[in-house]
Amino acid sequence: MTDPVSRRAALIGAAATTLLPLAADRAHAAAPQIGRQAPGYYRYMIGGYELTAILDGVRPTKLDTSPARNASLAEVQKVLAASFLPTDHVGIYFHPTLVNTGKQLVLIDSGNGPRGLPSTGLTAATLTAAGVDPKTIDVVVISHFHGDHISGLRTADEALAFPNAEIKVPAKEWAYWMDDGEMNRAPEARKPAFQNVRRIFGSIAGKVTRYEWNTEVAPGITAIDTHGHSPGHTSFVVASGAGKVMIQADATAGFAPLFVTNPDWHAGGDMDGPQAVISRRKLYDMLAAERMLLSGYHFPFPSLGYVEKAGTGYRLVPVSWSPVL
Ligand SMILES: [Zn+2]
Repeated sequence: MTDPVSRRAALIGAAATTLLPLAADRAHAAAPQIGRQAPGYYRYMIGGYELTAILDGVRPTKLDTSPARNASLAEVQKVLAASFLPTDHVGIYFHPTLVNTGKQLVLIDSGNGPRGLPSTGLTAATLTAAGVDPKTIDVVVISHFHGDHISGLRTADEALAFPNAEIKVPAKEWAYWMDDGEMNRAPEARKPAFQNVRRIFGSIAGKVTRYEWNTEVAPGITAIDTHGHSPGHTSFVVASGAGKVMIQADATAGFAPLFVTNPDWHAGGDMDGPQAVISRRKLYDMLAAERMLLSGYHFPFPSLGYVEKAGTGYRLVPVSWSPVL
């Protein structure tokens, strides 16, 4: 009988002689480069609900001026450098969230749609890559009416991107943006956003459901008042069994490594800066106390982390990739 050690050595020797020529052959075969990134989506469980963070894309934004109204560019660049990040630009991420309750498919926010940069507006394609036909979405819940959250409701030919879904929007957001008086009084720079709201919702106004804060927009998904970023800005607690996640939308607008660390900074998109700070601090104090998972629409992929109090602000501890659900 051959002793196990020398038998193993003989097997390894045999494997080596058969593998070597193969490896050499492979080096001669030129593989075509793919030339594009893989779709970004990340699944995780909250109790019995399966959630998927959908990467709608990333918008590179040059830092010629400060992205915070009440902080200088130099202050912002100091924070970026301390976080080992480039100081001449930031990448703004966009993450709608899909919730599969086991009975319904609920999409929270819809991304930038087809009119933005080629590196954004990927929600429908990414859903398809994740095995979800956009036609099967039952409900789309909107957090607020900025273009990067609502424009994905329309396709390039202005059809509904989720044709069988009920669309639910915050009542307060609807009251503000659909009011022609508000549009006429608004600063010039905000008027295109009013026009976009009319483009998206105008022809379906009678079919859009308006929801109030502190009510369920779908089973286990509760709307939370986090206004300030916009008049009706809403976050969502998704709860199932013992699991909970806060889908904060833009309670921290802009680039997370800047505005989580410095919650008192007013991001360019915060329509009421001081009120956005109040909502953000209230939300993060609660999340830190409860150690609740957080998904930030504009956080780096896959949007998930925990906040803890640190200095005068907070620290975001990102969740690491898990290969199992
Ligand atoms: Zn946004």
